[in-house]
Amino acid sequence: MSDRVAIVGGGHNGLVAAALLARSGREVVLLEARSELGGLASTRELIPGHRVDVGANDLGMFRRSLIDELELQRFGLELIEAPAVAAVPAAEAVVPAAEDGGAVVLWPEAERTAEGLVAASSRDAAAWPRFLAELAEQAASFEPLLGRPPELADMGRLLIAPGPLRFVSAPLDELLREWFETPALRAALCGLALLATGLGPRANGTGWPLLYHCALGGPDRLAPVLRARRGAAGLAGALSASAGASGAVVRTDAVVSRILVERGRVAGVQLADGERIEAGAVISTATPAVTFLDLVGAPQLEPRFVRRLLKVKYRGAAARLALSLDDLPRFRGLERPALTGRIVLARDPDDIERAADAAKYGRLPERPWIEAALPTALDPSLAPAGRHLLLATAHHLPFDVDGGWSTAGPELLDRMVAELERWAPGVSGLIREHALLLPADYESEYGATEGGLHHDEMNPSQSLWLRPTAGSWAGDTLPVEGLWLGGAGCHPGGGVTGLPGRTAAVSLLRG
Ligand SMILES: Cc1cc2nc3c(=O)[nH]c(=O)nc-3n(C[C@H](O)[C@H](O)[C@H](O)COP(=O)(O)OP(=O)(O)OC[C@H]3O[C@@H](n4cnc5c(N)ncnc54)[C@H](O)[C@@H]3O)c2cc1C
Repeated sequence: MSDRVAIVGGGHNGLVAAALLARSGREVVLLEARSELGGLASTRELIPGHRVDVGANDLGMFRRSLIDELELQRFGLELIEAPAVAAVPAAEAVVPAAEDGGAVVLWPEAERTAEGLVAASSRDAAAWPRFLAELAEQAASFEPLLGRPPELADMGRLLIAPGPLRFVSAPLDELLREWFETPALRAALCGLALLATGLGPRANGTGWPLLYHCALGGPDRLAPVLRARRGAAGLAGALSASAGASGAVVRTDAVVSRILVERGRVAGVQLADGERIEAGAVISTATPAVTFLDLVGAPQLEPRFVRRLLKVKYRGAAARLALSLDDLPRFRGLERPALTGRIVLARDPDDIERAADAAKYGRLPERPWIEAALPTALDPSLAPAGRHLLLATAHHLPFDVDGGWSTAGPELLDRMVAELERWAPGVSGLIREHALLLPADYESEYGATEGGLHHDEMNPSQSLWLRPTAGSWAGDTLPVEGLWLGGAGCHPGGGVTGLPGRTAAVSLLRG
């Protein structure tokens, strides 16, 4: 049996696994289908002269210890912390004044956020630090579980902890209403949390993504917004350099067409051009559906496992609109520092709920809810001089949209621009060029099944011991000996954390 480890996929998780294994002396070959590394956290010139992040642009959840362990700064990673975490601009004038409440900005510093909230509600301002403390306490119960394979004893501990259990299972909007009366504040928090689920904030189980976000953020504060200089691909570049310096071979334009299995054990991989690479272990960071149904093949698997796999939900698709602008747009009520974090364009959680409702029935939302970012407000080098880049992401979209994406795509583009104009009057006049990535593009170009941002939906029924399916989080509980999952679709989940890749590497090294 070969000592080599083959890694399928050069997104950040595959690269983390490659770097850790190579440092431990293992022979590693990583195979990435695309010409560039980074997967859903990569940067492309989708508009000439502009460095556009195709997916993740906020790297605030990336595990800090990996930066030191893999010497990522030495290998070129430069992270810039945004002054703001999230902001909701003041809503358009047609909203009744009583519901408007002006802009809301969440800063990394609790006192600064509370000071700003006084104008909307002194009650909410007083509640903010207490809310953060409560959130930190609940998140602390999960934090240790996210960095390692979950064990049965952890499940027992969580089941008898009423606080976390309630937060995980209740609707997020309900939980937030217990604390805050300002709709835009609740919208900002929903906007931070509900990015990779088809569930709206009134659905049970939507407290979990907020806890996940906070558990990865840091003690007593929301995860800061961190952007890599020159774009998210800066992380993949540093990881690849770190892996390469330890001897890992990183190949692009290498499409894996089969994971080879002999007598229930992994034997290597086969590439689309016919090349076979022997390996005693394989870590796949492709989605669970791609890994098992396309690359391993159902006939190699127990029927019970295949049935479970077919039940995995991939809901929660998104579209990314990149706009090249003549100037920074003016979002009502927000000064420049507030434009550096995530800009949530929802007046209240019901705007998100309405988008989720439409998606449930296969329709485009009348008013897409948009998470916007202005990366050039922090790093002007991402666009040519005199230009700004606006990344607008419409979340809660249906993958199988009525009429197909060839007609729904142009309609979505119009609705997104109209929505941006409502929040930043005059922005459409600043647009010079645009590029749009639709849910169908994320599947066909990045292998993201049904366009899922986090490979599969982040809901409590697909988390921890249940990710991707009941009782199968990674290698030693998966049905093929020597095969590990290491991408966003397995424990602990999606976002740019590096944790699934790290967990797979650590488990593999433990044998
Ligand atoms: C629009 C959008 C916005 C997002 N915003 C954020 C954000 O701001 N912050 C955040 O933390 N997260 C964000 N995310 C989520 C985050 O990008 C992903 O969860 C994360 O990047 C997944 O990383 P990964 O390494 O597990 O998988 P991926 O990045 O999907 O990498 C898997 C790789 O495997 C390759 N592959 C697949 N099949 C094969 C094959 N057969 N052979 C060879 N290679 C193969 C793919 O090409 C891909 O490069 C966003 C995602 C999207 C789409």
